Amino acid sequence: MTVAENLQRFRDSIPEQVTLVAVSKTKPLADILDACNSGHRDFGENRVDEFVEKCQQLPPDIRWHFIGHLQSKKVKKVVPFANLIHSVDSLKLLTEINKRAAAINKTQDCLLQIHIAQEESKYGFSFKEAEDLLISEELKILQNVRITGLMGMATYTDDMSQVRKEFRALANFYNQLPATKSKLQILSMGMTGDYRIAIEEGSNMVRIGSAIFGERG
Ligand SMILES: *Cc1c(COP(=O)(O)O)cnc(C)c1O
Repeated sequence: MTVAENLQRFRDSIPEQVTLVAVSKTKPLADILDACNSGHRDFGENRVDEFVEKCQQLPPDIRWHFIGHLQSKKVKKVVPFANLIHSVDSLKLLTEINKRAAAINKTQDCLLQIHIAQEESKYGFSFKEAEDLLISEELKILQNVRITGLMGMATYTDDMSQVRKEFRALANFYNQLPATKSKLQILSMGMTGDYRIAIEEGSNMVRIGSAIFGERG
């Protein structure tokens, strides 16, 4: 099956209202073009240099999602191309994104990454930290960023009840946020191994790599 066929099959298997971000990391430009020519527009990358390179070489109407951990010193490279940054995990990073967006007269859409997994290594805010940030004065003065939703990654485990529990907790948090809620529209959760559960638990944006492009080497 071609990438375009895989993608179409996958698209048809999930509800229409769920945005499909095709995660093309490590995959060649030809694969992305194949998907692009079939009409798909949302692609995700997780490494800055690869992200920039692909953004520069591929059609300008692609909606690029930056989904990987982002260091402040690399924000400048990412902001000119990113439609949505999924991985904001600190106020410091958000402040830098605001600065770089202001410099090019852009309002950068961002998701707050929430730490829901049991692993120590995953980045992100706790629920409390995210809620504090969303109602803070610090956020109000950042005129060139817009928090449009939340992103979370579940624990990497075969225990699907654990995965479900984590997605459910994030969805509950998303649904219960107070006054700021009306501005939050995106709940980005679910990858190849756990997207079905994520969608059942309320995800409206999934980030899918291997199921579309094949296993990464
Ligand atoms: C790689 C990656 C994905 C996609 O992973 P698959 O298991 O290949 O679908 C999704 N989200 C993030 C943050 C990733 O780094």
